Amino acid sequence: MPTELLFRQDAYLKETPATVEAVNERGGIILDRTNFYATGGGQPGDAGHLRRADGSLIAIATTIYDPEDKSRVIHVPAEGQALPSAGEAVTAVLDWERRFKRMRIHTALHLLSVVLAFPVTGGSIGDGDGRLDFDIPEGGLDKAEIAEKLNALVARNADVTERWITDEELDANPGLVKTMSVKPPRGSGRVRLVAIGDIDLQPCGGTHVRNTAEIGAVVVTDIEKKGKQNRRVRIALA
Ligand SMILES: [Zn+2]
Repeated sequence: MPTELLFRQDAYLKETPATVEAVNERGGIILDRTNFYATGGGQPGDAGHLRRADGSLIAIATTIYDPEDKSRVIHVPAEGQALPSAGEAVTAVLDWERRFKRMRIHTALHLLSVVLAFPVTGGSIGDGDGRLDFDIPEGGLDKAEIAEKLNALVARNADVTERWITDEELDANPGLVKTMSVKPPRGSGRVRLVAIGDIDLQPCGGTHVRNTAEIGAVVVTDIEKKGKQNRRVRIALA
């Protein structure tokens, strides 16, 4: 059975009841549903714990998609944890402090791709910091100027909303997606579009804050030259 991805419906779901579907041969725990984001799109998988009926905790170090069946999510326990049995009822509890920082950075990176309207060639999200790599022919990027524009967008208090469209709708309206830096995932028949007010619209399966105000102040910590045409821009929560 595919895992129900609750983090797609509600990024603020800090805990949820779930049932253990299976424990694989490596000790990875598969639940019927999860609020734990699985590693992907440059964002690390969530940590946290599973609370058992007797109140004991199983620490989860990270979360990944099952390499053998990408529709399933594996919760990877920290070393030395007791393992649950299939059919067991648990409560999946996020390390919310870390996840929320990642949501703030992730949403800030959407805004960074608006400030620097160049093709994005890569990206990564950490705990309170992150980066995007841009294909920019000329140098001369100014840290302070980028930070000022970025913070001005944050200060617009724009709502972050999402909607699903079909592949056919996307094909019929190529202008719907302003930033095609990441090819929308195909195959499921529908694509999730994430809008930040009228500032940004792009396909994304990640976790975002509800309003740009929640990002707070952001600083540009570094701009590196990566090869002839690539600039790596790092930001952090202030
Ligand atoms: Zn996103």
